[in-house]
Amino acid sequence: MGGGRAFLDILCSGSGSKTGVSGNLTNSFNQFPLYSWSTMVITHETGHNLGSSHTQNCGWPGGAIDNCYPTEGGCAQGPAPVGGGTMMSYCHLTGYGINFAKGFGPLPGYLIRSRVRNSTCINPVVNFETTLQTVMEENATVENGCFDYALVTAKIKINYTPSQPATVTLLPTIPDGLEIGPDKDIEISPVNFIIDSTNLSQTISFKVYNDALTEGTESLLINFNLDANGGNAVKRNTNNSHTINITETDHGPYETPGQPLFQESFDSISNGLGNWEQTVVYGTTSPNRWIVGYSADPFFAGKSAYISNDGGTYAYAGYTASDSSIVRLVSPVINASGFTSLHLSYLYKCVGEYTFVQGGGTGQGENIVGKDYGKLLYSIDNGSNWILLKDNISGRYSSQLEDIALPAAANNSSSLRIAFEWRNNDSVVNNPPY
Ligand SMILES: [Zn+2]
Repeated sequence: MGGGRAFLDILCSGSGSKTGVSGNLTNSFNQFPLYSWSTMVITHETGHNLGSSHTQNCGWPGGAIDNCYPTEGGCAQGPAPVGGGTMMSYCHLTGYGINFAKGFGPLPGYLIRSRVRNSTCINPVVNFETTLQTVMEENATVENGCFDYALVTAKIKINYTPSQPATVTLLPTIPDGLEIGPDKDIEISPVNFIIDSTNLSQTISFKVYNDALTEGTESLLINFNLDANGGNAVKRNTNNSHTINITETDHGPYETPGQPLFQESFDSISNGLGNWEQTVVYGTTSPNRWIVGYSADPFFAGKSAYISNDGGTYAYAGYTASDSSIVRLVSPVINASGFTSLHLSYLYKCVGEYTFVQGGGTGQGENIVGKDYGKLLYSIDNGSNWILLKDNISGRYSSQLEDIALPAAANNSSSLRIAFEWRNNDSVVNNPPY
């Protein structure tokens, strides 16, 4: 037999195909690196077994590597081999010869080393199970106080037990603006772990927090280092990194602790109640109404919203039954989408009647008896239904700052309104009302 034949790329195939045949072998051969047929043909056929085609094959990046033989695949020939051809060539049939010092050459050499490295039958290899995941930040379904998160997992695995436990250390490449850690953008756990006979597959958790910040897609690339402690585990050169794309498509308002969602000082309202509204629940003939302006109350030097019976200062006189009224000052609609843990802070003063005095209005539907006092209410449906936040507000002779946590029902409401309600019967007058 004049030549050799071998199966291509059979490193981890069944035993029947792990063969190559070399012919015309002789017992005499030159000392490396001098050329001799026997050395060349055995190495060449082994190169086929390890996955390499001939250099005249058209499948190499850039096409055929040399011009020593008609191409396999019909492409143009490669360049003349300067200083001789390489092991997978047929240059020994030409004047160029095969230069053993060049070995397999760059492309076949890289391919063969890569195949060996990736050959699971030679060494146990460590790699990611998948290479890409995409998670939408707004799909954070795991409730976690102010920082809900989406949980995604990836696996690093080894195909069989290494001779020594291997420590894997994750190496994230952190893009600008992405923060890693609890309650940051993403939390990775564990970042260090040991691959051994009891742990051939390690699940890695990624908590992707929804920070409610509007950001573009962020890509987190995770590679890993392998400390095999002298063992035979190797890092596979496929699936050896994993990318997590974090997308962000919600454009809700920013939520940061303590951030004002709605503020009203009343100072800038120059006409009526501005965009606040007055709802007369009862007492259409009563003169008592909310107005915005200068109340003359020494505690409120600027403008405020207050009850007046003549459109002027806070002082009013209610001596007739017709003064009985229930009037609400209703806020504009507040869009609390994307906001949770809402608080309402307000500066107020309210005297009213803090002792129970029978008054008028009995039997008037709302049955205004007893006291003059204020209420505080909120609505999450644009004012269709009102829920009591605070009752019996009276007896506050000086201005007070009050802070009330809104119930969770108000979280994320796009139709949130608040209302200050004044109720008075016609019995006793104490100024200011509210
Ligand atoms: Zn060949």
